Amino acid sequence: MRTTRDWQDADARHFLHPFTDFRSLARKGARVITRADGIHLWDSDGHRILDAMSGLWCVNVGYGQRALVDAATRQLSELPFYNAFFQTATPPAIELAELLAEVTPPQFEHVFFTGSGSEGNDTVVRMVRRYWDLLGEPGRDVIISRRNAYHGSTMAGASLGGMSGMHAQGGLPIPGIVHIEQPYWWAHGRPHGWSRDEFGLVAARWLEQEILRLGPEKVAAFIGEPVQGAGGVIVPPATYWPEVQRVCDRYGVLLVSDEVICGFGRTGRWFGCETMGTRPDLMTFAKGVTSGYVPLGGVMVGERVARVLIERGGEFAHGYTYSGHPVACAVGLANVRLIRDLGLVEHVANDVGPYLAQAYADLAGHPLVGEAETCGLMGALLLVRDKATGAAFDPAWEAGMVCRGHCFREGLIMRAVGDRMIIAPPLVITRTQIDEMVALIRRCLDLTLADARAAGQLG
Ligand SMILES: *Cc1c(COP(=O)(O)O)cnc(C)c1O
Repeated sequence: MRTTRDWQDADARHFLHPFTDFRSLARKGARVITRADGIHLWDSDGHRILDAMSGLWCVNVGYGQRALVDAATRQLSELPFYNAFFQTATPPAIELAELLAEVTPPQFEHVFFTGSGSEGNDTVVRMVRRYWDLLGEPGRDVIISRRNAYHGSTMAGASLGGMSGMHAQGGLPIPGIVHIEQPYWWAHGRPHGWSRDEFGLVAARWLEQEILRLGPEKVAAFIGEPVQGAGGVIVPPATYWPEVQRVCDRYGVLLVSDEVICGFGRTGRWFGCETMGTRPDLMTFAKGVTSGYVPLGGVMVGERVARVLIERGGEFAHGYTYSGHPVACAVGLANVRLIRDLGLVEHVANDVGPYLAQAYADLAGHPLVGEAETCGLMGALLLVRDKATGAAFDPAWEAGMVCRGHCFREGLIMRAVGDRMIIAPPLVITRTQIDEMVALIRRCLDLTLADARAAGQLG
C-alpha cells in the first residue's frame, strides 16, 4: 500500500494537472481520491467527502451505478473499439444516437459524436461555418459568445469561452469570435437599479446591437450556456433567453446551446434550453451523457442544419478517432436509460430541485451571503463583505478560497469562483442528503464569517 505522502511525491514529480499552478500544488501535495459511492468520495487517508460538485459537473447518476459498469465491461469484451470513419458503425453508437434523438427536443434527429465538450464546441465552429458555406454565404463566419462563458479548453473552445485568463495564454481568441457582456444581474444590472427582468432584456439586446454592429450578413451563430457553470453558476433573468431567441430568429443567426453542464437533467428538464425557453439549432453535450464514467461528448444537430449538411453535402472534413467510441456509447446508453428509468429529471424538477431552492432561500439570510441562487440542482452563494450594501470583499483576502479551505477540512466539495461558492450535486441526491450538505455549507459559512471578523474584513 502506498501512503498518501508517497502518492503526493510521485504526483508532484510526474503529473501536470489541468488548470493548476504546478509549483504551488507540488508544495501542498494533491488530495488523492481513491473510491466513491453515491454522492460521497473517500480520499487516501480514508476521509469521507460529500461531493457537491458531481466530480466536475458530470456524475449525474452518482457513483457506483452497476448498470454503467456492466455496460462498459460487456462492450469491452465484445468490441472495445472500432471507428466510424470508413462507412462503418457499431451498435452502441447507433443505439445511443437513436436514444438521444428521442430525449432531445423535437428539432434534433442527428448527432455528431466527439470525445469531450471541448471537441464538441470545435465541431460547432467547423459545422456552422460549413453550413453557411454550403448556403453560399461564406462571409457569414463570425460567432458571438459572451464574457465569462466556458466552452472548453481547446483552441476553439477557449476562444468561444470568455475567460480573459485563458485568452491571455496562447494568443486567443482565434479570428472570427467576438464576445458580448454576460447576463449577470448582480454585476451588470443591479448597479444600474434595473430589476432582474428589465436587465434580462437589456442583456439580450446587447446581442442585437452586436449583430447590427458586425452586420447580420457576417454573423453565423450565437453560443451560450443556458446557465453559466464554470463562470460561477450565473442564472440569467427569465426574460433573457426568450429575447435572445427572438433576436436570433430576426437575423437568421444560428442559436447554439452549450448543454455540457445543463444537459441530462441538471436544470429539471432534460436540457437547459427547455428550462430557458429556447429552440436551439445545435446543442453541445458531454459530461452528464455518461455521468463522467468514461469520456464522451457530441453535438446534436437540428434539422435546419442537418438538412443542408446532408442534402447539399459533399464530405464534411472533420471527425475524431473516438467519434462514436463503442465503449463510451455503451456507457452513454446505459446512463441515459438509467436517468429515464430512475425518473431523475422529474426528481430534480418536482422534489430535490425545489427543496434545494428552499434551503438556499434560507441560506440567503446568512450574514455573509449577498445573493443565493439555484436552478434545478445548481446553486450559487455570493459572499459579500457588507450584507446591507452588497459591498464585495477585498479581492486580496480571497473570501472564496477561505471558504473553500473550510469546505475541504469539513468534508465537503464546494467550488469557489471568485467569491461565488457553487454546487452541482449528483441528481440522485435525496432530501436527507441535501439537509446534510446544507448543514455543512452553513458550518463553512460560519467559519468563514469568523475568519473575516478576525481578519478585520467585515463591514
Ligand atoms: C466542461 C465544459 C466544456 C468542456 O468540456 P470538456 O469535456 O472538458 O472538454 C464545454 N462547455 C461547458 C459549458 C462546460 O462546462
